Amino acid sequence: MKVTEHLKNAKSTLFSLEIIPPMKGESIESIFQAIDPLMEFKPPFIDVTYHREEYVYKAGPNNTLTKQRIRKRPGTVGICAAIMHRYKVDAVPHIICGGFNKEETENALIDLHYLGVENVLVLRGDAIKSEGAFTPQPGGHSYASELLEQVINMNHGRYLDDELQHPTPTNFCIGVAGYPEKHFEAPNMASDLRYLKMKADMGADFIVTQMFFDNQKYYDFVARCREMGITIPIIPGLKPLATKAQLNVLPRIFHIDLPEDLVKEVEKCKTNQQVKELGIEWCINQSKELIKFGVPCLHYYTMSKSDAVRQIAANVF
Ligand code: FAD
Repeated sequence: MKVTEHLKNAKSTLFSLEIIPPMKGESIESIFQAIDPLMEFKPPFIDVTYHREEYVYKAGPNNTLTKQRIRKRPGTVGICAAIMHRYKVDAVPHIICGGFNKEETENALIDLHYLGVENVLVLRGDAIKSEGAFTPQPGGHSYASELLEQVINMNHGRYLDDELQHPTPTNFCIGVAGYPEKHFEAPNMASDLRYLKMKADMGADFIVTQMFFDNQKYYDFVARCREMGITIPIIPGLKPLATKAQLNVLPRIFHIDLPEDLVKEVEKCKTNQQVKELGIEWCINQSKELIKFGVPCLHYYTMSKSDAVRQIAANVF
């Protein structure tokens, strides 16, 4: 079923989650162990992130180093199939522009369609870790909106080869990313929102936000989106703070601000266990307020660990 149908049919705020594939070579059991304890909260859909290749240096003969291109966390499509099979819930694979040309994207979408996947989250993806700026694959897409256009075309039965006989339309419900605190490359919020509006106008069905720790940022973002005529659902993404180091790591990686009240409390903590408990409490409060605000769904970034999110969900749902 489509994410938008789940939202439409919901009688109360839905619980959903995002997981990341395990490191290459690890068992899928770690994914099941993360999801099993959360199933009592009845997530109608589960997102699975996509991780592109990166460059690593490996020791070669005679003290040489060779640069190798590897994917540390493959398996997004397989995990989606496994989730649908095991839990009978919808899986939402993230698909990205980076590392794919248009034909590879088309073939990946055909695989997903054959598997019965009805939802995708369409993203640009970030730069390769060792490279400063995002570079599109030759013959690939530069922005999420271009990838969105390809998925919409396939939903209309328009494949890259326009001489195909009887092309089958796909049926994807399409989500896109939104940034309550602005995407880090955007020159300003207005510009970022213009491109978000472009994605909504093109036919995106829903938005999932970057994590935020101050609900006011989400409320302001939603208000600005609605003023501009973005009418699709905006699902808030939440992550419980887990370690003191994240005070610096999260802003660096996700380009978000942490509220001063939270920072002050974390700085008082003597152990990461205390930080974790504080992070859970903060996230419970955020969740309860967002429910009052009337959000359709709370989407938790679990990082494939269920413990904290389970405690939050038990207090909220
Ligand atoms: P875009 O919508 O393409 O926007 C990128 C930047 O370009 C923005 O600054 C925007 O304002 C600007 N822009 C957009 N269109 C145009 C245009 N036509 N011309 C000029 N400028 C334009 N990354 C992964 O690699 N894997 C994942 O699984 C993943 N999951 C994510 C899930 C969520 C909910 C979120 C919020 C992010 C996720 N990301 C993931 C990170 C995401 O890929 C990065 O934030 C990326 O840098 C931007 O992706 P986007 O889809 O927002 O890009």
